[in-house]
Amino acid sequence: MIDSHCHLNADDYRDDVDDVVARAEAAGVHGILVPGIGLDSCERALEIAARHPIVKVAVGIHPHEALSWSDLAERKIREWVALPEVVAVGEIGLDFYRDWCPFDAQRRAYADQLRLAKELGLPVIIHDRNAHEEVLGGLAAADLAELGGVLHCFSGGPADAERAVGLGFHLSFTGTLTFGKGKADRVLKRVPPTVLLLETDSPYMAPVPHRGKRNEPAFVAHVAEALAEKLDRPIAEVHEMTSRAASRLFGFDEEP
Ligand SMILES: [Zn+2]
Repeated sequence: MIDSHCHLNADDYRDDVDDVVARAEAAGVHGILVPGIGLDSCERALEIAARHPIVKVAVGIHPHEALSWSDLAERKIREWVALPEVVAVGEIGLDFYRDWCPFDAQRRAYADQLRLAKELGLPVIIHDRNAHEEVLGGLAAADLAELGGVLHCFSGGPADAERAVGLGFHLSFTGTLTFGKGKADRVLKRVPPTVLLLETDSPYMAPVPHRGKRNEPAFVAHVAEALAEKLDRPIAEVHEMTSRAASRLFGFDEEP
């Protein structure tokens, strides 16, 4: 299994990140993608990846930190992408649910980083909350179909999902799949299962039976089980299919 979105660089793991990675490996996780939020969190992700070969990194400025998007940030991202463990630009996007950062600053950081990803030839990791129309519009305008990427913690409806897939994008789902029926059920009926990725979005979104606690990549197994149940496919097939999608997109090894 591959946890395609996990914030091991968050302070929540400051004291035990190595144990958390070891538990993930013991649970059958053979790849973890850690996205940056701002420059410090990108640095921290790179430190962790340097110690753990199963960890890969995305570098970018999150919409909540969009005011820190600057020439310096762009320069750092250009430097980091030369490292073999850096496989994507992210996480980037728009968050109109929380107004922690002025929307115009978010729009500027998003558009600039989409252009940068295209120039650098890397896939993107997209954060989208209450901004489906503008997020998808940005992806279409940036013409990223050949590089693609993922709409992480996908929260759009079936029509948004179809549009995203038409633009060459993958969708990933978190522990919310274990919470029962929801919008995701309708989305899963409308998209080819080959575009699906697993993620935990740790430390958030812990799946049942860990709901409400700190999440960690070992728990991606519960997300896989819930997905298998919703797709009505054998769990082994879901492991294989999602690993193949993550390998294609981010260069992880396929299921060992
Ligand atoms: Zn995230």
